[in-house]
Amino acid sequence: MEVRVRFAPSPTGFLHVGGARTALFGWLFARKAKGKFVLRIEDTDTERSSKESEDSIIEDLKWCKLDWDEGPDVGGPYGPYRQTERIEKGIYDIYVRELINNGSAYYALYDEGNAKEIVKKFNSHDEANDHRSNGRSVTVNFKIPAGKTYFHDIAKGDMEFDNSTFEDMVIVKSNGFPTYNFAVVVDDHLMKISHVVRGEDHLTNTPKQIMMYKSLGWELPEFMHIPLILGPDRTPLSKRHGATSVNYFRSYGIINVAFINYLSLLGWSVNEEVFNPLEKIESFDLYSLSNKPAVFDYKKIEWINGQHMRKMSVEGLIDNFKAWASLQNPSALKWFDDLDYSKAVFDICRQKVNTLKVLGEFARPFFEEIPADEESKEILKGEEVEKFLLSFKDKIQSLDDWSAENVEKLLRDISLNNLSRKELFQILRIALLGQKVTPGLFESIYVLGKKRVVERIEKI
Ligand code: GLU
Repeated sequence: MEVRVRFAPSPTGFLHVGGARTALFGWLFARKAKGKFVLRIEDTDTERSSKESEDSIIEDLKWCKLDWDEGPDVGGPYGPYRQTERIEKGIYDIYVRELINNGSAYYALYDEGNAKEIVKKFNSHDEANDHRSNGRSVTVNFKIPAGKTYFHDIAKGDMEFDNSTFEDMVIVKSNGFPTYNFAVVVDDHLMKISHVVRGEDHLTNTPKQIMMYKSLGWELPEFMHIPLILGPDRTPLSKRHGATSVNYFRSYGIINVAFINYLSLLGWSVNEEVFNPLEKIESFDLYSLSNKPAVFDYKKIEWINGQHMRKMSVEGLIDNFKAWASLQNPSALKWFDDLDYSKAVFDICRQKVNTLKVLGEFARPFFEEIPADEESKEILKGEEVEKFLLSFKDKIQSLDDWSAENVEKLLRDISLNNLSRKELFQILRIALLGQKVTPGLFESIYVLGKKRVVERIEKI
């Protein structure tokens, strides 16, 4: 049987880290099995769904490098399947009728004054049409059968639900739109989904869906409900803990590879911490993922990001930085005219920082002359300091062999009265880069080059 996995987001907001992790695990599983990964936008809740959300979810999936294999159009590149388009094609109507005809569902007519009160249950399609054309509210409800529902969940093991804990449920709303629990069953069946991989928050929907599979005489897919992601206080990760959207981590300056690396650690235990999950498809095993909730650690994701920033080629880092800057800080895009210089700058700047955003803050004074703040300017004032800077400039100017080692040697010998080296270095950082915190001073001076160093001191 072909492995077919779907990711089925509702476009009602940004893609959440939990959703991205579900998509990643489903994708890795499908890729390893040489199966298919399907993207289906579940937009039947028209009041809460929006095109903006859909676009941003798709954008974030692409950023995570999770691609999908098919769509409603022929050829490709494929758009996602959309439930609203499938409604128009009449796909769900066929199965609504089937459920009504075989007695598993019924039409419910509601009281004119009280939209919650069912006044009649019936199964005639014509009668339903009559009521509807008279402006009455009619839904289709699934009849919960007596008994128990059992299934095996890949993460949670054998599950058992007493059907009496569920009430008959609306599967077609009075506006004619199918509800989630029904549309998901029809689509998973028609799309031949072999493994339904989704978040644990859907666990109690599964028995209801299974009842519908049975009423339609369909074979069940495998189910896997991935344990939730928790915040540091062990309650489900939410905005109270900090930002939770993929979009936030992108704009914060996390690199995509680092992001999916971190997500994969939330459930997948691998014998290394810093890696590209897309290169480890072969070692992924859906069946051995942790069945315990994972705790999201904001510090750790930054740390992983820093590791990737230092591990990748400088060219790769610059590409990532440019992609980030084009959305977050477009003025930084003009830093790359002299590529050798930018590479040298980014290489020293990445040593101490963990996000692209801070990388940009470290790199900026190498490309733009940023005036020091008032407090720092004070540090440069006074005859002594001015003399020191001038003599430093002379030494720099007369350094014939421009190498990092020679710059370092030169700096080792500098002195000024009773100021410590730390204080002198701070003076130089402020004089040359306008900042108190910079990459290593020797490297910074070496990378700035003789000309810039001299010019910057002369301008003070
Ligand atoms: N559309 C559902 C959601 O975004 C997911 C449904 C599913 O995976 O079954 O929560």
